[in-house]
Amino acid sequence: MSDRPLRVAVVGSGPSGIYTADALTAQSDQPVAVDVLDRLPVPYGLVRYGVAPDHLSIRSVRNTLERVLCRPGVRFLGNVEVGSQVSLTDLHRFYDAVVLTYGAASDRQLGIPGEGLFGSLAATDFVAWYTGHPHADRTAIESALDGVTSAVVVGVGNVAIDVTRILAKTHAELSHTDMPQHVLDVLSHSSITDVHLLGRRGPAQAAFTTKELRELGELTDADVVVDRADLELDPGSAASVAAGKVLARNYAVLQKWSTRELTGKPRRIHVRFLTRPVEVTGDERVAGVVTERTRLDETAGVVGTGEFATIDAQLIVRSVGYRGLPMPGAPFDARRNVIPSEAGRVLDGGIVVPGDYVAGWIKRGPTGIIGTNKKDAGETVDSLLADAAAGALPPATEPEPAAFDALLKVRGIRTVSYAGWQAIDAAEIALGATTGRDRTTLHDIASMLAACDAQGV
Ligand code: NAP
Repeated sequence: MSDRPLRVAVVGSGPSGIYTADALTAQSDQPVAVDVLDRLPVPYGLVRYGVAPDHLSIRSVRNTLERVLCRPGVRFLGNVEVGSQVSLTDLHRFYDAVVLTYGAASDRQLGIPGEGLFGSLAATDFVAWYTGHPHADRTAIESALDGVTSAVVVGVGNVAIDVTRILAKTHAELSHTDMPQHVLDVLSHSSITDVHLLGRRGPAQAAFTTKELRELGELTDADVVVDRADLELDPGSAASVAAGKVLARNYAVLQKWSTRELTGKPRRIHVRFLTRPVEVTGDERVAGVVTERTRLDETAGVVGTGEFATIDAQLIVRSVGYRGLPMPGAPFDARRNVIPSEAGRVLDGGIVVPGDYVAGWIKRGPTGIIGTNKKDAGETVDSLLADAAAGALPPATEPEPAAFDALLKVRGIRTVSYAGWQAIDAAEIALGATTGRDRTTLHDIASMLAACDAQGV
């Protein structure tokens, strides 16, 4: 293997995949050639399809990721789905190591009656729609939003805050984003007046961060409503707030809101704690959400009090976390929804699977900010390079890049290269310019491929 670079396939081009490619190619001990594969024709994963479109500064991390993608030794191969079009076994013919960084694409369920009614959406699906993910079910989401005046968002993490904010913003607050035009049009004509954000535990257990929380209070058309009774702290929560800077800041923001007079804006965001949904009601579509008041036990766990109420609502968005999915041919921990690993090495029944690695959400679960993935990918790459140096990788039998490209061709897979992504990028900027926007996201694969065709790439 020493007369050629180490060949590594990275499956997924979100932050964890690109930070993996970065760590592999930034070191000089071992020459490495990395192919970054993605099932979509475009890179960046959750930076493109998770970070809210109005969070421009977080989305600009794309520029940092882009510098890795165009580095010599790194190839982008978009529009290739590992697990269906190409198997893990296939990859091992062409690569000495495979790093799975495909994230957590699915949602977690609440497990309550009525959850499957029309008008009950997973936040993952709603976020996919507003970011223009090609697999979003546009018809289902847009018809679920039609005529809604009151919505419930379950969960008090940053995704729930994103969803609430996007539902409450005006056209002027969204038009500078790159969201697809149809999304902007639907949200701009929304009839929503009330959004109820429900935390099943107290403010001291909420997962959101202060900057994100604070933004809810800065919206043009929405007042924030907080009931002072929801902010009463039990001794354990009071101790947590006293000890934690973020919690203390969150608490101060909520306290301020709880004493503020409403200003009569046309929309209201009701931030509620110690309230859990127990049933979604309605015949054919959501008509209400039955909630139960909760209290905390001594370990800050949730206990029902038997006090029930109903929120009239035609939409419920369940924002209770993302969920990782298995990869055919790789082991899976169905309890934690991750691929089991140790220091990034995939484990099957506790035994290391030679040549297979993981990084990002499919390694550690759906937590952390984008930057968390850099350290996480670094750990995985350290293990991979140590294994390569120790001769512990099963060498590829067909290591020439052309051999893998030939397999893709034989299978009729039309890949999108970095040049293809650049063509899509340029087409989005050009589309945005037609309506005075910096960029409008292309939301379907056919348009993306047409942009590549137009440039002959
Ligand atoms: P998260 O931070 O894990 O929050 C999930 C929320 O759902 C928690 O409030 C949790 O409450 C609640 N929940 C879970 N099961 C529930 C149930 N059965 N009933 C009611 N509530 C339930 O997840 P996330 O919001 O999806 O975010 C994922 C990661 O991405 C996080 O690390 C987040 O910070 C990050 N992110 C960051 C940004 C940003 O920086 N701007 C934006 C988006 C996402 P319990 O605590 O009681 O379980």
